[in-house]
Amino acid sequence: MSEDALAADTEYQIIRSETPVWEDGFKIGEPTGEICCCSCGRSAMNIDEIPHQQDCSQRWARTDYWRDRFLSE
Ligand SMILES: [Zn+2]
Repeated sequence: MSEDALAADTEYQIIRSETPVWEDGFKIGEPTGEICCCSCGRSAMNIDEIPHQQDCSQRWARTDYWRDRFLSE
């Protein structure tokens, strides 16, 4: 499994609203801005901040942006 969050073999899903606009501020089917991990089902507003479950195969997947920012110092 690749550790690059944007690689072709990592799977994420853009969360779309399932409720009317008066429920959550988004129309039905409109992206809420959240990203969901297809492997463990957790979600977050930022792909690098998804609180993956401990046994998630994509647990250590991060974008290059994240690595540049946090690992290159
Ligand atoms: Zn996950």
